[in-house]
Amino acid sequence: MIYENPNHRRVKGSRLLLITCGYCKKEIAHYQKVGKGNLLRMYVPRIVRSAVDLSKKPGALSCPKCKKQLATRVTLRRKGKDAYVMKRSAFNSAEL
Ligand SMILES: [Zn+2]
Repeated sequence: MIYENPNHRRVKGSRLLLITCGYCKKEIAHYQKVGKGNLLRMYVPRIVRSAVDLSKKPGALSCPKCKKQLATRVTLRRKGKDAYVMKRSAFNSAEL
């Protein structure tokens, strides 16, 4: 099951990444990445769609298949934005 993110916003100049579970390879999300560098967190409005239902604002992203936790939801104080802080080496990303 893939859920469209109701809070998704298009981002100019971003590239689309496929995020997969690092344990079982299940597809977790399509994400609009801005800039270079490793993916440390996913800002909620940049997540296009996900295997996790984001409309329920889950406090963590867990793989629906193997149930491992991949990220934790935080609200960034300075920016007032919600994001998922990715657990290192718990996921893979590839350009789409
Ligand atoms: Zn998994």
